[in-house]
Amino acid sequence: MKLSEEIAEFKCSICGSILRISPENIVSICEYCGGLNIVSGIIDCEDIFISTSVNVDKVLEEFLNRVRKDVDLKKISDKLRIVSTQGWYVPFWISRVLIRGEVVYIKRQYRGKKVEIIRNRDSFSEEIDIDIIARRQVKNLALRELIKTYFRQKPQLAELKNLAEDWWRSNKLTILNIEFDRKESEISLREEAVDSVRRIWEDKVDEIEFFKAEVKKMERPKLIFLPLWEVVYEYNGSFYTAYHQGWSGHPLIFYEPITMSRRLLYAIGMFTSIILGSIIGSALSLLTLDSLSDAWWIILFLLFILALIGYRSAKGFISDIRVEKSWR
Ligand SMILES: [Zn+2]
Repeated sequence: MKLSEEIAEFKCSICGSILRISPENIVSICEYCGGLNIVSGIIDCEDIFISTSVNVDKVLEEFLNRVRKDVDLKKISDKLRIVSTQGWYVPFWISRVLIRGEVVYIKRQYRGKKVEIIRNRDSFSEEIDIDIIARRQVKNLALRELIKTYFRQKPQLAELKNLAEDWWRSNKLTILNIEFDRKESEISLREEAVDSVRRIWEDKVDEIEFFKAEVKKMERPKLIFLPLWEVVYEYNGSFYTAYHQGWSGHPLIFYEPITMSRRLLYAIGMFTSIILGSIIGSALSLLTLDSLSDAWWIILFLLFILALIGYRSAKGFISDIRVEKSWR
């Protein structure tokens, strides 16, 4: 649809004036009479819900709280400068789906040095929450985290049609319009439901030989708008971003600078992993596996764990930004 066609389509429901809208709009306030119009014509109003947001002050308060409580950040808190803050309402289609199906899988069990292979057929019936972002080409870690946190915390939702005009006028967040209608979303949600149940099984077993799943029941999909805030801050000439959810303002994802002490810790981790790696390597080359006693296995296992920890912190050293998830 061309933009010009879309503008021509929407007239104020109160005075009939042409509304100035862009494809990004879902609501529009008439320039002439001040009337409120919902212009996303492809969606039923009763399918739309919104988790209303705290204001920017609350988000910044939570941001500074996070800075003050963080071991690394609090040392540099004087030198952090907030560059910008911005909020959006991001649309998701969500539903609850009942899935039934059958799976044939293989599971390997290790008993001492022997491997036992178990082959099993199982039928399942699972009810899961599913979601899709109602926009194309949106792949962002913060959005994934936003919807996951939503399902965990289930903040209250308001029906779009029940929000007062005052609310719309005082709203400072950009409301992102949707690119899928309910019919389209239903197809994607079904596919997503089957995929996600398959992924659950893939995590549980070693191999899947056969998998069949069917959507038995599906709630009418809801379009929910979740508030997401972005705080951009500067430290030492570099820019970093923190993402907060808007229903309580708590941080979701925090990109932060790596301080000197953190760098040192990573460096130690890296050296430990190299040294332990070579110890394990030489130990294994000296001994044949059969002659290893149980005590040796335990020692090697512990060394391996230590090496793994070292390797993980070394990886943090390589990527310059440390990503921290919300702890709440
Ligand atoms: Zn009007």
